[in-house]
Amino acid sequence: MAYPEPLERLVAAFERFPGVGRRTAERLAFHALRDPRARELAPALEQALAKTRLCRECFNVTQEDPCRLCADEKRDARTVCVVEQPRDVEAMERAGVFRGRYHVLMGALNPAEGTESAHLTLQGLVERVRRGEVEEVILATDPDAEGEATAMLVLEALESAGAAVRITRMARGLPAGSAIEYLHRGVLQDALEGRRPIRRG
Ligand SMILES: [Zn+2]
Repeated sequence: MAYPEPLERLVAAFERFPGVGRRTAERLAFHALRDPRARELAPALEQALAKTRLCRECFNVTQEDPCRLCADEKRDARTVCVVEQPRDVEAMERAGVFRGRYHVLMGALNPAEGTESAHLTLQGLVERVRRGEVEEVILATDPDAEGEATAMLVLEALESAGAAVRITRMARGLPAGSAIEYLHRGVLQDALEGRRPIRRG
């Protein structure tokens, strides 16, 4: 049995979220329709779309461009920490262990879920490094399969662009299969301090 067309569209919209199947999409759609508090959802989404954008420097989601972190002269612009998601920037900032700048890839390589290298902000990073101010790029993608593949992709992009920078991987001490956003301060600090240069092969 088909739902009324507008409801079917809502279900289909939820179903496009990562990890959401048909059943969950239906549950969310019915909830959104029936819960008065869910009426905040549509205007909130509209506002977020209208009033946020990606920072031209680091590609984090921001209201001001460049973002607060990129505009902060006290932060070291020579060191760029490459992360997958805005949540990772939040985790690093919460831990207070890093005083350089960030680059947000806006995802991790995951062809099975439809995330290809073209969806990541690789070109922005390459262009940023080419401008010459960056001396070290720290690859801080998650220590899982997608994160490792993504780190290799970034490494290849920088190398094939002939970028003359130190490239390090923040890995030692990070539990395999974990995610940057869930790690505690001490673990992040150790991983950052124990970072090491990487090369292919
Ligand atoms: Zn920024």
